[in-house]
Amino acid sequence: MPTCKVNGTTCEFQPGDSILKVAWMNGVEIPHYCFHPSLSIPASCRICLVEVWAPNPRKDGKLEAIPKLLPACQTPATDGSAIFSDSPKAVANQRAVMEYLLINHPVDCPVCDQAGECYLQDYSFEYGSGESRFEEEKIKQPKKDVGPHILLYSDRCIMCTRCVRFTREISETSELCVVDRGSGEQIDVFPGLALDNPIASNVIDICPVGALLDKEFLFQQRVWFLKQTPSIDGITASGDNLFIEHNQGRIHRLKPRPNEEVNKWWISDEVRYGWEFVHSEDRLRFPLKEQLGSSVETNFPIAYELIDRGFTEIRREEGRLALLVSPMLTCEEAHLLADYIKGHDADAIVGVGPVPIEGEDQLFAEGKRGEFLVCAEKCPNKRGVQRVLGAHFEEVLDFDAFVEKVTDKKTNVAGALLTGNYPSQWVTKELKKALTKKFIVLLDTLASDLSGAANVVLPSATWAEKSGTFENHAGRLQAFEQAILPIEHSKGEGQLLEDLINLAEGLNAEMPGKPRIYNPARIRQVMADTLGLSEFVTEVHMPMLGAAVESDMELVEL
Ligand code: SF4
Repeated sequence: MPTCKVNGTTCEFQPGDSILKVAWMNGVEIPHYCFHPSLSIPASCRICLVEVWAPNPRKDGKLEAIPKLLPACQTPATDGSAIFSDSPKAVANQRAVMEYLLINHPVDCPVCDQAGECYLQDYSFEYGSGESRFEEEKIKQPKKDVGPHILLYSDRCIMCTRCVRFTREISETSELCVVDRGSGEQIDVFPGLALDNPIASNVIDICPVGALLDKEFLFQQRVWFLKQTPSIDGITASGDNLFIEHNQGRIHRLKPRPNEEVNKWWISDEVRYGWEFVHSEDRLRFPLKEQLGSSVETNFPIAYELIDRGFTEIRREEGRLALLVSPMLTCEEAHLLADYIKGHDADAIVGVGPVPIEGEDQLFAEGKRGEFLVCAEKCPNKRGVQRVLGAHFEEVLDFDAFVEKVTDKKTNVAGALLTGNYPSQWVTKELKKALTKKFIVLLDTLASDLSGAANVVLPSATWAEKSGTFENHAGRLQAFEQAILPIEHSKGEGQLLEDLINLAEGLNAEMPGKPRIYNPARIRQVMADTLGLSEFVTEVHMPMLGAAVESDMELVEL
């Protein structure tokens, strides 16, 4: 394998790799703004210029300096060369570029949302100079409302053109362009065309400075207060890897977690802004029970007792039970639901909840490195739920067949355990009709017609408030972490089921067997051992975490 030296570090590389890639793969940082791995390479920001010494074949391979600095993002590494981003010439260029970029920059970090995650700040600290020689008036550029979710603060823009290239090469919608020239140059939308496409807000993430801003996040939080939890898209079948960023139990934004095998560097706007139902006023917060025809608040021990007694009585009178498992739930929760209902009725009628489909799948940048799919299927785990239920039961019905069978008097269904957890209303008229005069237990997150009609309602948790595994549209099993605590008295379906199983098995906190606490890793192992679903141990992709970033600033005691 060819090798070269970058700042004295010997680096192996594949022929054709750029100097920037070789350095990055070997842990050597070369500053860059306009380069992004999924986009074309204009080599325009010039901060990545490096000094290259290459072997001269006419002089027995003696190393000779190439007279001009070369852009590391665009220049392939060559065998035997020596590359310097820390030589006096390269450093002088970095300082010059930083000075140039800051000439007209407002340096308004104290009020900029990007402060704390801004490459202009970081590189200014690392490669810039502590003072400005510029005494003239700064050119002021306008603030622009460029799309439903995005603001452009033009005076912070460094003209890297990442955003323009994203709309040309990835979303292929070309809403953005460069207008004017010289110091008047700026980014703009084409007249009458808003920056509004299903993946538009990714430009906010790839903007290296605070020029493109998220309207929803504007002035909400300083980024250093946010905690990042690795998660998976919880509202569509894409399985996009993302970070939930939260502070004090509230989600503030979702960001893509780069994964070249799934979502590359992107998430759709629908996923990015689809978390708001987590903090909805309509969330169910307490267990409810039916009392004299209306729904009243109760506590968990009474609710669990009512459920257990209700199902036991139905079975004593030879009625059948039905179980509806939502495709919004995790694989582990599907297993616990199946386990619990089998404990009451081994022949229960089992179905998968409604699978919302909106339009058709949309593939962006087909065949390119940044290729990205927006799924039409608006639930995260239909395949995983089907996989688990299929290992428990001979027949797993789709939603329409489930409703039909529950409606059919011959099946003698007298009680049903239903799960929802959709971000919007999901209960159909047909389902409500099918459940008339039956004993209904509902585990759900949002209040609905059914929560008012159910005999017992248990408030459950959204995907951000629990952990587990989803299987995406391509059959990839991915685990995710709990980001925030469940709202008020709600609990994840997994814990609700563990509580019900504890009650059925007579376990309580005073007993040596101890009640079981929901633990997705243990349940995956149980599924592998008892159902033969070994893929839940061998094939689950766990979130890859970057090393924690240590501050290089000195702490000052006040
Ligand atoms: S708005 Fe951001 S991404 Fe677009 S050119 Fe300016 S600095 Fe680059």
